[in-house]
Amino acid sequence: MSHTILVIAEHNQSALRRVTLEALQAAIDVVSGSSGTVHCFIAGKQEKELQASAEHLLRHGAQHCYLAVDEYHDSLQALTSLPPLLVVIEDLKPDFIIAGHTVYGRELAPRLAARLASGYIADVTAIRVENEQVLFTRPIYAGKAFETRLFQGSSPHIVTLRPNNFLPADEKNGELFTDLSEAISLANQPAAPLSVIVESVAKRISKGIDLTEADIIVAGGRGVQGSEGFKLLQELADELGGAVGASRGACDAGYCDYSMQIGQTGKVVTPKLYIACGISGAIQHVAGMSQSHTIVAINKDPEAPIFSIADYGIVGDLFEIVPLLTAELKKL
Ligand code: FAD
Repeated sequence: MSHTILVIAEHNQSALRRVTLEALQAAIDVVSGSSGTVHCFIAGKQEKELQASAEHLLRHGAQHCYLAVDEYHDSLQALTSLPPLLVVIEDLKPDFIIAGHTVYGRELAPRLAARLASGYIADVTAIRVENEQVLFTRPIYAGKAFETRLFQGSSPHIVTLRPNNFLPADEKNGELFTDLSEAISLANQPAAPLSVIVESVAKRISKGIDLTEADIIVAGGRGVQGSEGFKLLQELADELGGAVGASRGACDAGYCDYSMQIGQTGKVVTPKLYIACGISGAIQHVAGMSQSHTIVAINKDPEAPIFSIADYGIVGDLFEIVPLLTAELKKL
């Protein structure tokens, strides 16, 4: 069975977010071996930048890109993306619409589902095609179990993918339209927002690394004891090329900013390596990081619940262990 898939692209200023390339590859995998096609929708303010992003997507396997250009798309917002997106959907009639499970995707997907009276499966971590049916797996009960779902009813079916769970699309050779401009169309429809942003304040992020897309995260809890302790974690993260995250306990105590909070009411992360320092492992924290590929826990309490989900556990004082790790890495 061949499917038409629309990927909703996301970009950070001029660069595409990695989750978009992950969604693109997931879509390519679903249509592989069939005559299905993968299309992308991308909204933004500057046509030139969008063209560059569209070309990037086309070189990475998309067959067609729809650009929505409007000054209201200065920052990506569900309410402003919706009008041009609905026009594209009307034109393309996709079977599936895939977005990242990000702030943007999480706001856009349910609005879209409501408008189209479609089904929506959120926070998907795996997709497989079985007997011509597309199955979507996602964690439930704060990551303690997984469920696999199948859409019923009329399409389009809407899905958001948890970042860092799919391989990003790589550059494809020889599969391009000869004239890139033929593979790009404008989907201009006045954005007509019901509200506009009057001010946005960018929070500090570790060396420009977005926590939700970081491959390595060094996270601190109440055991870090203050903002000075977080400097130790930052040094370790810098050596590893990673980002610093935190438990809500650490944020509530004022050791760090809430933008760093990981968990049920914070960010959901899936890095390759998660180093939890002085974090007890409360279920609300684990909900946001349990899918990390390798978990290392440093805690002085051998009974701390974090050890039950850790791949490697170090029982000891983080103020001794973290600087030791950093010093060893510096020697490499
Ligand atoms: P603690 O539980 O106090 O643990 C500190 C740990 O540090 C201990 O295990 C201790 O042994 C260890 N330690 C102390 N000193 C050292 C040292 N020198 N060296 C090594 N280890 C040391 N929490 C989140 O994190 N994210 C969420 O999104 C979130 N959402 C919530 C939503 C709701 C509705 C509720 C009710 C709670 C939520 N929480 C969340 C809070 C959660 O329940 C915990 O209170 C919180 O995660 C605890 O943070 P912590 O592990 O840093 O602190």
